[in-house]
Amino acid sequence: MEVLKDLPLDFSRGCSTKKEKEIANQILAELVEEAYGLDEFYLIGGLTKPSISLNNRITTTQGRFYPSRNSIEISGYLLKACMLINDFDAIRGTLRHELAHWYLFSFKQDYNDGQRDFEELLIKIDAPSSGATNKKLRLSRETPFLGYMFEVSCDKCDFKDYSTTRCGKYRHKNCGGHLIDNKMVLVKEDWKN
Ligand SMILES: [Zn+2]
Ligand SMILES: [Zn+2]
Repeated sequence: MEVLKDLPLDFSRGCSTKKEKEIANQILAELVEEAYGLDEFYLIGGLTKPSISLNNRITTTQGRFYPSRNSIEISGYLLKACMLINDFDAIRGTLRHELAHWYLFSFKQDYNDGQRDFEELLIKIDAPSSGATNKKLRLSRETPFLGYMFEVSCDKCDFKDYSTTRCGKYRHKNCGGHLIDNKMVLVKEDWKN
């Protein structure tokens, strides 16, 4: 795990201001156009394209496809993280992954994570497999973690760790000292297979 940026504890992790939303939606629109131009999606002409929007409440996954609504939601946290490092590979991969669900669903093919048609399409469009998919069924690379964590330390011993939640209310199990949230950090895990 690599720490890319130190952030204040109260840093706003989503795309929340008007200006941020504007920039984020513009980036998303460009990536959508780029994805629709992929050779593998050459049959999309006859399909009803999904509505694609940012959602700041998606924090545990990076994106979602809703077949019944023909819509895709992308995590506002993830796009904000990409904006902080000016590297949009993670959001590009997530978007293509969700579009692969949509595309195969539209043609009534196997569109679920782990199914052969789906995993094969992911490789062709250079999109990652879901980290939740059984490793034996995954063909593409795993979705790397890019997101926010809290740096936590103990006021009594030299314990230091990273946590997905704030720990400031708790005591260190080993020594009984108070845990302190030092700062928020943006972290990244490397590509894995
Ligand atoms: Zn998926
Ligand atoms: Zn301690």
